[in-house]
Amino acid sequence: MWSPDRAIESFKQLERFFGEVYNPKFHGFRGRLSIRQAPANPPAVAKKLTTAFAEATGIKILDDYNNPLTPIGAFTRWQLYQKPTGERESASTAFLSPDIVGPNGHGVHGRKLTVSYRTTALRILFKGRNAVGVEMLKEGKKVRVFARKRVIVSAGINSAQLLMLSGIGPADNLQEAGIPVVFHNPNVGKFLTNHTLNNAVFSLNQRDAAEIRRDPFALYTGGAFLPNPLEGDASRRGVQLIGSVSEGNLVITILFLQPRSHGTIRIQNNDPLKIVLADEAFLRHPYDLEAVKSIFRNYIKPTALKLSEIDPSYQLMAPRMETIDDDDALEEYIKENFGHNHHQQSSLRMAPLREGGVVDTTGKVHGVNNLIVADAQIIPFTVDGNTSAAAFLIGTTIAKNLTEEDDS
Ligand SMILES: Cc1cc2nc3c(=O)[nH]c(=O)nc-3n(C[C@H](O)[C@H](O)[C@H](O)COP(=O)(O)OP(=O)(O)OC[C@H]3O[C@@H](n4cnc5c(N)ncnc54)[C@H](O)[C@@H]3O)c2cc1C
Repeated sequence: MWSPDRAIESFKQLERFFGEVYNPKFHGFRGRLSIRQAPANPPAVAKKLTTAFAEATGIKILDDYNNPLTPIGAFTRWQLYQKPTGERESASTAFLSPDIVGPNGHGVHGRKLTVSYRTTALRILFKGRNAVGVEMLKEGKKVRVFARKRVIVSAGINSAQLLMLSGIGPADNLQEAGIPVVFHNPNVGKFLTNHTLNNAVFSLNQRDAAEIRRDPFALYTGGAFLPNPLEGDASRRGVQLIGSVSEGNLVITILFLQPRSHGTIRIQNNDPLKIVLADEAFLRHPYDLEAVKSIFRNYIKPTALKLSEIDPSYQLMAPRMETIDDDDALEEYIKENFGHNHHQQSSLRMAPLREGGVVDTTGKVHGVNNLIVADAQIIPFTVDGNTSAAAFLIGTTIAKNLTEEDDS
């Protein structure tokens, strides 16, 4: 059973074991969500890669990238959603654990909570422009539930679809799909944003590969947050580099964190179970391709040169050095080897209506009443790292606002 004292005790044990640097000024210890920081004594591959990042870029190695005073630099000490025992932590394991909700979906110890399993929300029900409930498919049956105060949508990447199926969206798209328009808002499903993802692959010292088993809970092996090489501001994160060992190689995963491309989500018809047309528009804005090329030239190539000086077993295999030096070949490599991550955000952006917004600063949907969106789709500007912390922050802040509003 979870308790704050138990959580603190497990972290204290970790501290004793690994010599942790959890800084109470910047980290909480009483929350339910476990974050595990990689041990202070890193495996050789992480040490070599991080040293190469630092020497190649002239940017120092840091201990704690979640300390707001040290946002930029190379590091070995990843902080990831994991329990002290290594299992992945998530909103579901942390906040819907057996001490909160029972197997029947009802809140335990009198908690006013019901979770409907095997249920899909089909659309929000409106009376005029007031959201009054939700129509759902529950174990094959259509059911309706009604809200006393408001409806809160947290369907993540599916939230835009849910709004459109309910009549909030671009009028032409809704009319084509045969959906009565409750509020015409052309911004719904626009501004879908995702970080770009590419890889650089290196050969690996096989002795180092064996040694990473020392930390069986490690998901990644060294990393860095670096500035966007096309911009002057050296204090803003523009690039995330993630080291990992995969299939006998060292892989650096490259995320460009300031993309200018924005995609769209559109529904195909009024069938809630029909998949949407989602276009993430990767590299559509020419700036993004220039930025990724610049990352290969300014960060990956110098890192590869340093790494092979530190240990000649580490050689860049893909892309080849000649590819990085040839603009056309590099462009082709980036497009041909483009990867995908799950950092989709901003399809229901928080902004004024005339500036592309769907929700206001408290998550309330423009143009209708009693409807709130609380998930990563309302992120107003692109997150400079992984996206779930922003999603947690949005959920917490909206919950706090509503509690205060209802209490006053
Ligand atoms: C494989 C993977 C790995 C990731 N790794 C990381 C990571 O290491 N670090 C990080 O920060 N981020 C990571 N992310 C991204 C992170 O998970 C998301 O940014 C975050 O979960 C977004 O939160 P959300 O609340 O917006 O949406 P979600 O977490 O997707 O929550 C939406 C919920 O709504 C449910 N839902 C959707 N449609 C309906 C419907 N019609 N009816 C009923 N329920 C519905 C979904 O099942 C889901 O439970 C990862 C994502 C993926 C997919």
